[in-house]
Amino acid sequence: MENSVSRLYIWTLIVMLLAGSVYAGGFDIVRDGKAAAAIVIPDKPVDCVQRAAAELQYYIKEASGATLEIVSESDANQISRNYIYLGACKAAVSAGIVTDKLTRNGFVIKNIGSNLFLIGRDTAYPWTAYDMPAETGTLLAVYNFLDRQMGVRWLWPGKLGEVVPKASTISISKLDETVTLPLISSRFYAYHWDAGWSNKQAHEQFKTDENIWEQRHYFSWNPNVSAKHSFEKYWERFGIAHPEYFNLLPDGTRRSDPHYVGNGNPMYISMCVSDPNLWNQIIEDWKATRTKENPNIYVSENDTPGRCCCPRCMSWDVPYPELNIPWDKRLEYSKRDFAKKTDGWSVNLGNLSDRYARFYMEVLKLARQIDPNVLVMGYAYSNYTNPPLQTKLDDHIVIYNVGGIMYPWTSEKVQKDKDMWTGWANTGASQSWRPNFMLDGHNMPIFIARKFGNLFSYFHKRGMVGTYFDSDTGQYSTQGPNLYVLARMQYAVDKSVDEILDEYYGAFGPAKAAVIEYFSYWEKVSDAATDQTLDSYAVQQKTPEGGHYGHFYMIADAIFTPEVMANGHAILNKAADAAKGDKTASARVDFLLKGLKNAELTLAVQEAYRVYKASGNASAYQIAVKTLDDYRASVEADNIANMGFLYGRESESWDRSFLKFSNVPNVELDPKWKFMWDPNDEGINKEWFSEKYDDSKWFDIGVDFCWEEQPVGRQWEKQHGSQYDGFGWYRNQFIVPSANTPQQFILAFGAVDEACKIWINGQLVLDRPYPYKDDRDSWSKPFEVDITKFVRFDQPNVLAVRVEDNSGGGGIWRPVKLLFSKTKE
Ligand SMILES: [Zn+2]
Repeated sequence: MENSVSRLYIWTLIVMLLAGSVYAGGFDIVRDGKAAAAIVIPDKPVDCVQRAAAELQYYIKEASGATLEIVSESDANQISRNYIYLGACKAAVSAGIVTDKLTRNGFVIKNIGSNLFLIGRDTAYPWTAYDMPAETGTLLAVYNFLDRQMGVRWLWPGKLGEVVPKASTISISKLDETVTLPLISSRFYAYHWDAGWSNKQAHEQFKTDENIWEQRHYFSWNPNVSAKHSFEKYWERFGIAHPEYFNLLPDGTRRSDPHYVGNGNPMYISMCVSDPNLWNQIIEDWKATRTKENPNIYVSENDTPGRCCCPRCMSWDVPYPELNIPWDKRLEYSKRDFAKKTDGWSVNLGNLSDRYARFYMEVLKLARQIDPNVLVMGYAYSNYTNPPLQTKLDDHIVIYNVGGIMYPWTSEKVQKDKDMWTGWANTGASQSWRPNFMLDGHNMPIFIARKFGNLFSYFHKRGMVGTYFDSDTGQYSTQGPNLYVLARMQYAVDKSVDEILDEYYGAFGPAKAAVIEYFSYWEKVSDAATDQTLDSYAVQQKTPEGGHYGHFYMIADAIFTPEVMANGHAILNKAADAAKGDKTASARVDFLLKGLKNAELTLAVQEAYRVYKASGNASAYQIAVKTLDDYRASVEADNIANMGFLYGRESESWDRSFLKFSNVPNVELDPKWKFMWDPNDEGINKEWFSEKYDDSKWFDIGVDFCWEEQPVGRQWEKQHGSQYDGFGWYRNQFIVPSANTPQQFILAFGAVDEACKIWINGQLVLDRPYPYKDDRDSWSKPFEVDITKFVRFDQPNVLAVRVEDNSGGGGIWRPVKLLFSKTKE
């Protein structure tokens, strides 16, 4: 690895604010609230340089009230004053500023006389394209200047999160620095779902603000430093000509494992990684496709454990102390379990990390002969997750390390991730960190900032060259310190967590002490939880969806009890009192209060949801959801939370389809339906839709969960050994009393997974295929069907629904309602 990559980001600049003076090596850009300099951009600036100029101008005005003019370089010579040159101006070349040795996104900050140069590696992509091979070095130079020379901070997306210290005079001391970013790639994946936002514009604004916030924190994904399953097309290309590239299975064949996911699908085949012909093929492929922008080699296995049982691969393995069968019996046990068609037979091979490490090194050796700077990207994954015991690697090998931490951050889990990291670091490899823990916690006030920051520092000191956090769930008001520390550490790697937290708390002015007390309280609450607390609560609550991670909101009250929430709220009220009289501090405390209220209302819905599921009475639940959604709509423009993320997660259990129909009179159909499997698709021929058909021998079923989750589905699974996919029929009846005024009748389905046909009194009224109108999410969406023409009054109407489901859950899984209203005149 280029030595510059691992070089630390050195803080050498000194902020000088010497009012009104011009001194050796420095000059004023604003003097007594008046512009004393102009911003100069090249005559043909790339997108990010224009953006850099606008940002610099905006923050200088916010700080001082002065507007610095932005001029093109050819116009600049006509005015005589101090200049701030941005990007590749001719003046930078004349001044001898060298940029050709800059690393990715690197930049120079240097002043010569009364000229300041901010220039970086820029590419001509739109500046918003931070997850493309875009480089925005000049823009980052401006952010660096704003951060370190002017003390600007970006606590969360949007204007309220911007901290801009006031200064009527802004002077610059002698600056001369070439900056190499501490990470060659850093990404905070933004999670977005359109549903859950009441106003599309609010969502668009949130996305834009978040994107800008991430840029201001130097997030810049380098897609050339990533891991991908590299051999998914190899069987198609080489299965016949070069079977030796592929794993030798215990039965002596070379093919994709028929007992694994995909039942022999070639995209899951693993490779014979000790085969020199395979290495040469990888090199040939790379030579044919490598570019200046994408110079690296990806050698990660497909999404599968290593499986090759050939003698050469097995001879590369190093006896693994934790394997609980004798080392020389590995093949024998593998053959035995493979013959039993056991998917997990490959655990008998033990840990294969030394085998994979050797493979990565062999490929690197060959590639280096062609490009000495090449990086080889490999996974630590599946049965090669644990660090190799003997093989030495090289810092041009980048290992993708996912780690295992999810909330709660117990010391055991943290230690395990540290050990794993240290083990790989000790081989000499570089590593990229790609954890999933930021997806956890829903909108609850979980505090992990300190533990995160310490772990980040630990990894950074041990060869971390990249990050990829999955995901930015955008809970800025309840999890703000976590998000700020995470963002800030992407470049300010030498700052301590306490320094960074102090920047955050300092923004609350007179409420600082109370805000510290508030988040320290959540830290204590968060640290007290254990996996045991959450797991046993999930069991006790019979949460079918589990509780960790994606469904955290369903068991969050194991930790965030009403009493715990009330205590937190009381501390925040103290902060609000302390902030009185300070407009900005009050607004920021209010920002925190909105997040807490959002969390409280979320907990209230889950409480009501439990009552609804236990009693069948939905009214309290429906009121709680409506209250929550109305509240979210009232604060969604304030960037307190990513409402789409919350809605998406909650939709996996909470039914909101009633909201769509809540302002028209409606009745829910009898929740007890009749049901029959139709594995041979004979229901239509036998007229199971007919009103005369006798369904009295059919099963009973509800429509609040998919059929797999119903007793009838569990029974099927028990009898057949697998869950049912295919056709299934539902029947129900309802009576409509005759009325004096003409009415319109609509059946409203909460959701049907996946396709369905619907009959009323034997007449087909809807044929809804899947995906419906190309919407792959249509299985989860509510829909309506007008049955006015088919309804009979004062006698039973027979409703029949044939559902076709081809994967995952299936059936009518949200309640069905009959809506009625006056016919439009
Ligand atoms: Zn092999």
